[in-house]
Amino acid sequence: MSVDDPDQSAPNDHVLPEHSPEGFRAGFVALAGVPNVGKSTLMNAVLGQKVSIATSRPQTTRNRILGIHTVKGLGQILFVDTPGIHKPEKELNAVMVDTALKSIGETDVVLFVVDAQGFTDGRVPAGDRFVAARLVEMGLPVVVAINKIDKVRERAQLFPVMEAYGNLAGLDPRAVVPISALNGDGLDVIVKEVLGLLPESPQLYPADMSTDQAERFVAAEIIREKLTLQTQKEVPYSSAVLVEEFSDDTRRNLLRMRAIIHVERDSQKAIVIGKGGSRLKQIGSQARGDLERFFGRQVYLDLHVVVDKNWASDPRRLKVLGYERYDSER
Ligand code: GDP
Ligand code: MG
Repeated sequence: MSVDDPDQSAPNDHVLPEHSPEGFRAGFVALAGVPNVGKSTLMNAVLGQKVSIATSRPQTTRNRILGIHTVKGLGQILFVDTPGIHKPEKELNAVMVDTALKSIGETDVVLFVVDAQGFTDGRVPAGDRFVAARLVEMGLPVVVAINKIDKVRERAQLFPVMEAYGNLAGLDPRAVVPISALNGDGLDVIVKEVLGLLPESPQLYPADMSTDQAERFVAAEIIREKLTLQTQKEVPYSSAVLVEEFSDDTRRNLLRMRAIIHVERDSQKAIVIGKGGSRLKQIGSQARGDLERFFGRQVYLDLHVVVDKNWASDPRRLKVLGYERYDSER
């Protein structure tokens, strides 16, 4: 975007720093665990208000980035989802298994979240043992977060729980950390442990948006990919995708998305729409397939094309469309 001002003391979170400090660490952290243990709550609590998500980077869709936590001067954690890992094999089709394993295989560290309350009769619950066995196969460094300790009356009750998870066959966790995602207990320890396991790396993403935007961004990237596959030459470069609505329709158990493909000219709009709307239909159904695999949910996608003559030349339009770094990435 704009010119660097060497005297500017406030860092600009929209852009990547030219140089990351010595010893800076960055990488992908998979959130693993059975449903309801508090993975989302944990991530949101770590991210707090200060969340960011990438601009147009291809690995975003591969790694399903849910949120990015940047610790100034120290490191950057890219939280990714592990769809399907907790599900029994028979419920998964081959593609889903492959996607799940791939997404984990590409991560640097696994944060295995479990519920302290689940450990009732002195045994790690079957669901957790199933996940643990999968993680052992992956061979990645694991940090176990024993969540919901606010529900545990006495601290001493946690010791057998920590010991049991620490001794799960072959898991060999680097740390077992009691936390409460709800009240923030132990989250600083989690961040410290996880950061310490990430590879030394320059900062990978600029630091500023929200989790919801992360999901929208991923959705936009998937749609943009299908648009690119279906159109040629300048169309993909003259278009942008904005996910205007992204909501969870709990009543009908589906994710509802409204996405707008912005193009610069009428002729491009005609190309994208295709004869009798055929191409747009293709783009939409291919995108929907990927979105459903990605989010593990049924998706209702409402897809439109609009001519937006200035989108590529107006910095504010670019920002809304999530292309702050458009120029520098081409
Ligand atoms: P996920 O399915 O693993 O992503 O779990 P969620 O983050 O959606 O949390 C499931 C439920 O557990 C929600 O009702 C949360 O409010 C609750 N929860 C999450 N973390 C904690 C915690 O530390 N303490 C308590 N008491 N409840 C929690
Ligand atoms: Mg969740």
